[in-house]
Amino acid sequence: MPDIRFDRLILGDIVTPERVLEGGWIGTTGETIAGIGQGSAPKGAETLDYSGHLVLPGLVDGHMHTSSAMGWGGIVHATRSAAAGGVTTVVDMPYDIPHPVTDAAILAEKLAVVEADSHVDVALYGTILKSGGTGAIAGLAQAGVSAFKLSTYEYDAVRFPRISPQEMTLAFGLIGETGIPVALHNENQELVESLTEEAKAAGRTDPIQHARTRPPLAENLANTEIFEIGLATGAHVHIAHSSLARGFDLAAAYRGFGMKASAEACIQYLCMTEDDLVRLAGRGKCNPPFRTAEEVERMWDRLTKGLVEYVSTDHAPWPLRHKQDANIFRTGAGLTGLQSFAPLMLTLLARRGLPPTLIAQYCAERTARFHGLYPRKGAIRVGSDADFCIIERGRFVFDEASIVDRPECRWSPYHGMEMAGRVAASVLRGTLIYSAGTVHARPGTGRFVRRAGS
Ligand SMILES: [Zn+2]
Repeated sequence: MPDIRFDRLILGDIVTPERVLEGGWIGTTGETIAGIGQGSAPKGAETLDYSGHLVLPGLVDGHMHTSSAMGWGGIVHATRSAAAGGVTTVVDMPYDIPHPVTDAAILAEKLAVVEADSHVDVALYGTILKSGGTGAIAGLAQAGVSAFKLSTYEYDAVRFPRISPQEMTLAFGLIGETGIPVALHNENQELVESLTEEAKAAGRTDPIQHARTRPPLAENLANTEIFEIGLATGAHVHIAHSSLARGFDLAAAYRGFGMKASAEACIQYLCMTEDDLVRLAGRGKCNPPFRTAEEVERMWDRLTKGLVEYVSTDHAPWPLRHKQDANIFRTGAGLTGLQSFAPLMLTLLARRGLPPTLIAQYCAERTARFHGLYPRKGAIRVGSDADFCIIERGRFVFDEASIVDRPECRWSPYHGMEMAGRVAASVLRGTLIYSAGTVHARPGTGRFVRRAGS
């Protein structure tokens, strides 16, 4: 070993999608990885000794909502939680208050807030107006959005509109020309609304009604609609969250028809069930809803077959007061997830006898590839950004009091769950941004990361 000197040396069991390099070392120079090895380590000006811990690539969460509840002021808080969760890159959704990211000028404004406030690196989705706004698609692509997000379901006519099949066809055609993928919120509006009205008319507003009024068919109708429009237009169409194995099967079927099609699993669909919705009530409400234990098994079957594009959190930090109404229909939909992401994925894999390499694959590399950030992000490779999520293995109970998002969002559906590890430290571009319960990153430590090529 020549006497190479690095700015910093990180010791631990290095986890890549291919293997775990036990007793490994990573040398960093400036903001990037400059060397990787095993056994006796070369010199570093400073050593972060995490021997015996897992050193993963910094996680890339491809799906989160910082600004749905309180606007761009949420960025500073959610990215702080990301830093504490070993999530060093987040991809933020465009459905912001007071206006969604529907053109390059709004993107530029949001980007300035990201650069000023973010604790971790941030890539951004763009979207379109409910109608008449497809002319802004090319500008958003040039400005560096990593993906587009559209919806078949309307939560809000301005912030989160339903895009009609006609408008979607027009939009997909233009998005297809950019080469950037388009992710879809996939629920059929008419079916959900009619079932919800029926439940309310019958006086049923208890938690399980959330699942009953958003049945698998609501997802599958939307999935086939978006894939058919993708097939007709040439766009890469991506299901933003499939709670069903069938979403991955449909994506595979449509790939067989010659189009680019993919689907994403949020981590809650790999563990939570309808029983958890009943147990957690409003705290377990998200869209699509939790499914059955059998469906969770089918989800894992598709993941282990390589059919899942990547795993995300859909982190949507609603204040707890929005999650406590006894009427499930009056409760906000969305879960917190950034700080539980790494320990939970490790735990779910361990329960199934699956290796932690799948975290590096599904929560970092695949996500970064999809969003055009790889190999700068999502990889432990020479030349990549020196981003790491360092996990201490052991039995630790996840406590929502450890969440460092804004105070009213310090709740978790995973509160009290025994995990197979906890995040010991996070490193962003060579700098320790979190360790032992303390966030060292400051607002502005994070940067906007644009899609590179497509
Ligand atoms: Zn979402």
